Amino acid sequence: MNEKNDGGKPGINTRLAHLGNDPHAYHGFVNPPVVRASTVLFPDYETMRDRSQPYLYGTRGTPTTDALCKALNDLEGAAGTVLVPSGLAAISIPVLAFAKAGMHMLVVDSLYSPNRHFCDTVLNRLGVEVEYFSPHIGDEFAKLMRPNTGIVMLEAPASNSFEMCDVPLISNIAHEENSDCVVMMDNTWATPLYFKPLDFGVDISIHALTKYPSGHSDILMGGVSANEKHWQQLQDTQFALGTCVGGDDAYLLLRGMRTMNIRLEHQARTTMQLCEWLQGHKQVSRVLYPALPDDPGYALWKRDFKGASGLFSFVIRDKGREECGAFLNALKIHGLGYSWAGYESLAVMPNFSDRVVAMGPDEGTTIRIQVGLEDFDDLQEDIERGLAAVR
Ligand SMILES: *Cc1c(COP(=O)(O)O)cnc(C)c1O
Repeated sequence: MNEKNDGGKPGINTRLAHLGNDPHAYHGFVNPPVVRASTVLFPDYETMRDRSQPYLYGTRGTPTTDALCKALNDLEGAAGTVLVPSGLAAISIPVLAFAKAGMHMLVVDSLYSPNRHFCDTVLNRLGVEVEYFSPHIGDEFAKLMRPNTGIVMLEAPASNSFEMCDVPLISNIAHEENSDCVVMMDNTWATPLYFKPLDFGVDISIHALTKYPSGHSDILMGGVSANEKHWQQLQDTQFALGTCVGGDDAYLLLRGMRTMNIRLEHQARTTMQLCEWLQGHKQVSRVLYPALPDDPGYALWKRDFKGASGLFSFVIRDKGREECGAFLNALKIHGLGYSWAGYESLAVMPNFSDRVVAMGPDEGTTIRIQVGLEDFDDLQEDIERGLAAVR
């Protein structure tokens, strides 16, 4: 799907209510059909020879996946979007589209751990030299750039430690030092509703659609949205690798997106209330959420982002990991489980042991909370129950 963003648009809820739909192409039915397909038939030899019809084979997209791509292109302001089977594949596939042996790649140290694993195993084996840098690097980033630096990988804020990095600054430096360097960003936390990477100099925006766009903990999918310069190579790689998604999942994803802004608003409001309460709690030494005015990442967040989503961490003061196991065990509403951005609240104890650049003094144990659609009072009571268990 190649569709250019054209500006001057209606409000976000209006757009989310209609994006990707073309009812009169489908007899007036509001939603696109769920197309399950491998084979697509051609009417004759000549059409087959010239490949002169919109759809050729299931791996290359269907009306259902195109409806979703069209919606994502609009939200991201992208030249094109590919859909892949998971958020993690949305990281590995664009990297594989541009990586080559002998390349140097700069990766922010605070990034999603499975992404680091991909860099340290697959990319290393393919002869890519990966170097990690502090999210707080600022102007010093220029010193890390080399003539063979081909990819820069960003994520802001980090999805466990919530450190921000200066996305436009780093993107500008990367392109100034090496005009062919491809800047990629995992934008899962903010979603394109709260931050549009391509508007800030990023070339490729990565989104674990598993998270807010799905919103219901029942789909795995990733979206990779590219600017004009990088779209063709990204799409060619997607075809070469055969990493496509099914019609049922694409349909459910689009359905989830209709309510994404409404869900996010509710989750963001509850999150801020919980953060403010926890900041005043005597058992909590720190709350990690860039939308808090005293968070170290606040200035960058405020400058570039339109909102903050429902995932944050806090540090239980002076307690070790084993002691804080009691916090997790006492929870009745928050589930103990990975992933986030669904309708239900979750808690995990992240591990930062893979960090290359130190994170500063360790003043306790970090707990990450995914805030679901439940009511604030109930979530607050549940977290208080957890904290009481470690007193
Ligand atoms: C969850 C997540 C992913 C991966 O998504 P999956 O669909 O679970 O593979 C990538 N990046 C971030 C920041 C995530 O939180």
